[in-house]
Amino acid sequence: MKFVLFLALLVAAFPAAAQSPPPDPVLTPVVADTLYPPQAVQGSDGKVHLVYELGLANASPAVAEFSKIEVLDARTQTPLLTLEREEIAKRLSIGGRRGAESADLGAGQIAVMFLHVALDAERPPTPLLVHRLTLRLLLANPIDVVETVAETDVERAPPVVLGAPLIGKGYVAADGCCDTVRHVRALLPLNGRFTLAQRFAIDWEQVDDENRLFKGDRHVPESYVIYGREVLAVADGTVIASRNDLPEQIPGALPVNLPIGEADGNFIVLDIGGVYVLYAHLQPGSVLVAAGAQVKRGDIIGKVGNTGNSQAPHLHLHVMDGPSPLLSNGIPYVFESFTITAIDHAGTADLDAAEATGKPMELTPLVPPQHFQNVLPLDLSIVEFSR
Ligand SMILES: [Zn+2]
Repeated sequence: MKFVLFLALLVAAFPAAAQSPPPDPVLTPVVADTLYPPQAVQGSDGKVHLVYELGLANASPAVAEFSKIEVLDARTQTPLLTLEREEIAKRLSIGGRRGAESADLGAGQIAVMFLHVALDAERPPTPLLVHRLTLRLLLANPIDVVETVAETDVERAPPVVLGAPLIGKGYVAADGCCDTVRHVRALLPLNGRFTLAQRFAIDWEQVDDENRLFKGDRHVPESYVIYGREVLAVADGTVIASRNDLPEQIPGALPVNLPIGEADGNFIVLDIGGVYVLYAHLQPGSVLVAAGAQVKRGDIIGKVGNTGNSQAPHLHLHVMDGPSPLLSNGIPYVFESFTITAIDHAGTADLDAAEATGKPMELTPLVPPQHFQNVLPLDLSIVEFSR
C-alpha cells in the first residue's frame, strides 16, 4: 500500500512531458468517491465479485431524487451494474447509518452507497470503474441531472490464499459475501473516518447431521455443534495480539453495554505477510498463542467460543490490511481447498430462525458435493474443510 502511494507521489512529482489537457469543469451537484478501491475476488458461484462503497454528498440546495445509479467500465462505458430506484432505496444509507436507507438525498446530506458487482469470470478484468448518477433536483423548477463521478482503479493484487481455519464438515459460512448486511455493511465512524474491516468476514457456525446448529438448551454454549472446535492458523505468520481472559456470554442474545474494546471477545490477530487475519469470540483459556509467537499453517491456536459481542458460539474470521480489527480496511481472501456440500437458499432469515429455535436449517444438498480451489465460499454455503 505504501509502495503504491510512493509511486503515485513519484508520478505526480514528475508528470509526463506530453500532458493531456485538463478536463473541462462540469457542475456535479452530487459529489461522490469510493471509500476504498475495490478488490476483485472469485466466489464459489463462478463469478468475480466487487464489493465496495461509494460516499456521496448532495452539495445542492434541493433534495436529490435518484432514479438510477450505474457502475460502468470506464474504458468501454459498458454498464456492469444498473440499480433502479427501488434497489437504490435498499443500498443508499443516509449518513452511512444502517437502517437509514433512502433513494433520496436531502440538501447538504451525505450518504454511503453499498455496491456489489458480480461479473462473469470469463470476461476480461475491469481495471477502472466510473459511476453514472441519474437524478432529479427538486428545486422550484426541478432539474434533471446525469453525472459521471467517482472514477476508481480496481486493485489488481489477487486475494490472499488461506488454508482451512477449521477441520470437519457442516460449517456454515454465515453473514458472508456479498449482499448480507451484518458484516458487509459494518461501516463504523472511527478515528475521524469511515472504516469497514468486516467487509468480507464470515461467521463460521456448524450444523449436525440433522442440519441443526444446536440441540438442547440454547442458553448453554456446549449445546452448539461448533462449540469447542479447534481453530487453525490459516497461514504461516506472527501473532500480533491475542486475548484469552474474557468470559463466555450466555447464548441467545447479544450482551448489553459491552465496551467496544471487548467486541471481539478472546481473539487472535495474525500477521501473515503484510495482511492480517482476525479470529474472534474464542473460548476463554483456549488461546494458545500470544504476541510475538510464530505459527505455521495448520497449527491449532484456539477453540471456538462465545466471548465478546456474540449471541451464539461461532468463529468470526476476516482478513484486513492492518493489525487493528476495527481500524483496518477489510480485504477479500480465498481458501485454497474446500468442498461445498449444501447451500441455504432460504437466506439469513432461515439461519436466524435456526439459531433462535434449534429447528433444522433449510439446506439444499449439492449432489455430488462440489470441490473448490482458491475461491471465496459465498454466503450460507455449507463447507467441509480437510487437512
Ligand atoms: Zn462476525
